[in-house]
Amino acid sequence: MTDDLHNSVWEHLTPPRQPAATLRRSLAAGVVVIGGGLTGLSAAYHLAKSGRNVTLIEGRTIGWGGSGRNNGQVIPTLAAMEPAAMESRYGSRAEAFIHMVRDSAGELFDFIRAHDLDCDAAQSGWFQPAHSPAHLKLSEARVNAWQKHGAPAELLDKPTGDALLGSSHWHGGMLNPTGGHLNPLKLSHELARLCLKVGVDIYEHSPATFITRRNDQWEVTTPDGLLTADAVLLATNAYTSQNVEPRIERSVVPLTAYQLATAPLSEAQRAEIIPARQAISDTRGDLWYFRYTLDHRLVTGAALLLKAGAKSRLQALLRQRMETAFPMLTPLTFTHVWNGFVGITTDFTPRFHELGPNYYAFTGYNGRGLALTLPIGREFANKINGQTCALPFEPPREIPLHGLVKRVARSRLILTRLQDKQRYKP
Ligand SMILES: Cc1cc2nc3c(=O)[nH]c(=O)nc-3n(C[C@H](O)[C@H](O)[C@H](O)COP(=O)(O)OP(=O)(O)OC[C@H]3O[C@@H](n4cnc5c(N)ncnc54)[C@H](O)[C@@H]3O)c2cc1C
Repeated sequence: MTDDLHNSVWEHLTPPRQPAATLRRSLAAGVVVIGGGLTGLSAAYHLAKSGRNVTLIEGRTIGWGGSGRNNGQVIPTLAAMEPAAMESRYGSRAEAFIHMVRDSAGELFDFIRAHDLDCDAAQSGWFQPAHSPAHLKLSEARVNAWQKHGAPAELLDKPTGDALLGSSHWHGGMLNPTGGHLNPLKLSHELARLCLKVGVDIYEHSPATFITRRNDQWEVTTPDGLLTADAVLLATNAYTSQNVEPRIERSVVPLTAYQLATAPLSEAQRAEIIPARQAISDTRGDLWYFRYTLDHRLVTGAALLLKAGAKSRLQALLRQRMETAFPMLTPLTFTHVWNGFVGITTDFTPRFHELGPNYYAFTGYNGRGLALTLPIGREFANKINGQTCALPFEPPREIPLHGLVKRVARSRLILTRLQDKQRYKP
């Protein structure tokens, strides 16, 4: 399996687009945004809207990283950080950040509607079913925690959850109606279109190869060009290369996550399986998750312990999971298999980094970045514009023995799978 996007169902469902030009000259830019994923695009948009002169450079094409490869679930929570953990990690700033997460899905769908972005967006809700009766207690605790902070989360009992899913595999769970799903590659393309509209200069196939400070300015070098800037945002996340910014590369672990799309489901199957088309990701650490595409496929995915023979092992694993949950899918066919890097931080917390005067980066979506990229990009703009931000900007925390951690990170999956089988204890 290669690293390109060509096997992705999103590529199949997204009209081809003419990439922007390659940077082939020296330019004075007010702010340089490095990385054409949703974080970089959101930052560029908000900066340009605030009157800044902005140039965005992308090493490949817009949405080439996690933003164009993900499952497209718009989820207003973090993967491994509940409101209580946010309170102890961020202290007096926690409430602002909790609200940012709480409102993130609704805000993204509102933004898509307000700007008429064509990305197959469906605000059909996000449901997190409990994978054991005991885990319904975990769902209840999460609903209570989020309701305390004003989120419209609700607890569904097993019969109601079964009806929503068209499956008796789960045991009820947490529903948040502000969530849903979309085509993430289309969203990336549409956000790039919006950036151009507000005056952002975009260059593709123009990777930053060197970033240096000279005469109180930043210089960003690409293979054929040079940008001089007052401020730089590094939005390369799990795709950060060691040569460009080792401090960020070593503060995040890029975990390979695989995605698979089924052939389109029949009308009868669709009437039974998740008939109202919510986005689903359950309470397992090794998640079971699904969502419909516009052309009625289910997109799911998984992580693997070993890369060898990934494609056939994945299909066997996901076939077994999906046929267990939805027996009427048997026999199941997959048409697209692709992968991407999820950026994991060792404590699973997101963080802004200050790398020098007016030089910033963000890492740590930990697999839940889609809804958050919009407000995180806005935070970057606020920081550059001297306004208050929800989270502190901190020095990067490089992971000791990073090379080794990267190699063994996948083995954590063994522990996660064991934990998933254990009884939940509140
Ligand atoms: C398989 C998978 C499934 C996921 N599913 C979900 C989901 O359902 N819901 C959810 O909320 N989140 C999900 N995520 C996480 C989500 O996709 C990410 O959090 C989000 O896309 C991060 O966006 P970003 O813009 O920060 O980074 P990216 O989208 O990764 O963008 C980084 C960009 O930087 C570019 N780049 C790298 N180096 C350079 C350089 N030197 N110069 C110029 N450009 C450079 C890359 O080409 C890339 O385009 C998933 C992630 C993966 C991989």
